[in-house]
Amino acid sequence: SKKRVAVIFGGRSGEHEVSLNSAASVIGALDGDRYEVIPVAITREGKWLAGVEPARMLAGGDPAQLGRPVVLPADPTVGGLVSVDGGRVQVGDLTPVDVVIPVLHGTFGEDGTVQGLLELANIPYVGAGVMASAVGMDKIIMKTLFARHGLPQVNFRYCSRRDWERNRQAVLSEVEQLGYPLFVKPANLGSSVGISKARSREELVPAMDLAAGYDRKIIVEEFVPAREVEVSVLGNDDPMASLPGEIIPLNEFYDYEAKYVEGKSDLVIPARLPAETMLELQRLAIKVFKALDCAGMARVDFFLRKDNGAVLVNEINTIPGFTRTSMYPKLWEATGITYPELLDRLIELALERHREKN
Ligand code: ATP
Ligand code: MG
Ligand code: MG
Ligand code: MG
Repeated sequence: SKKRVAVIFGGRSGEHEVSLNSAASVIGALDGDRYEVIPVAITREGKWLAGVEPARMLAGGDPAQLGRPVVLPADPTVGGLVSVDGGRVQVGDLTPVDVVIPVLHGTFGEDGTVQGLLELANIPYVGAGVMASAVGMDKIIMKTLFARHGLPQVNFRYCSRRDWERNRQAVLSEVEQLGYPLFVKPANLGSSVGISKARSREELVPAMDLAAGYDRKIIVEEFVPAREVEVSVLGNDDPMASLPGEIIPLNEFYDYEAKYVEGKSDLVIPARLPAETMLELQRLAIKVFKALDCAGMARVDFFLRKDNGAVLVNEINTIPGFTRTSMYPKLWEATGITYPELLDRLIELALERHREKN
């Protein structure tokens, strides 16, 4: 019998749009002979939708990404994993679902919140659990943990929005110790939303204000002149790493536009690097994955310093972009796992993880 797979997408995040594209690709690629796909959408306002509405939302995305029409559940009243009504949350209407694929990027989806809900409902789901998701989303906690594991990374400072509002001078002089140029980021986000490069105090102040508009916490990093390389990781307790791929953004850095506008960056897959560097990247990617106790999948982003060749870990993404042209699946394709096979494996890993928990 077919496995019932719910794909949750959209979400209350700066990366809502990106999620629609990822979900359209995922839904289009799930083998209809083996899976019954149940699309579940979360609006920007946080409303959960099942039935025909999710398909409408996807159609508003890029139709070229839709491999085949979205299969709607036979009974459109099924779904609505949670309903929030007058402050009352109801969980578990999706109990007949075999597995959930959360295709949500950023806050309220990649950060452990939806994962916690699925744990409560006792439903298997693809990807990292609550803790790894939360740690991976918060760049300050993530980097503090990386440091504890001796992982090489850039120097950084951080502050709360409150610190920034009340003690501007103190914050400025502390982060300036890193030396310009600086990279300023909201601690919890993705797709480069709210990130800027600051070459002077004149640029630092608006950069801090921008980041503070997105999150309660702000991280400031030293800028490193570097090539950017990413590695995909797949597995649970014995994860494997893909061939590394390089990104060559045409903009000054890999910003939102460079990520999502066709032709704004080049992907070199596999990266053209010495074999020993490739191995080092793969080794570090697995070390990062294990340090957070990730599950299923993650994409680990690296910097390769142009001045001294050092490899630095930038960050981990526990729900990486998942369109057919996204780095995560493309790296697996280059390593020998096709896009539909990758989905099969992720579903298997989710079920395996669920069995081990119980
Ligand atoms: P993702 O979409 O991968 O989740 P993100 O929003 O979490 O991205 P980062 O990966 O931390 O953001 O940074 C986005 C981009 O900004 C990097 O890919 C790189 O181009 C640039 N960048 C970030 N930090 C630095 C740094 N310290 N030095 C140089 N460039 C940086
Ligand atoms: Mg990220
Ligand atoms: Mg991300
Ligand atoms: Mg990144």
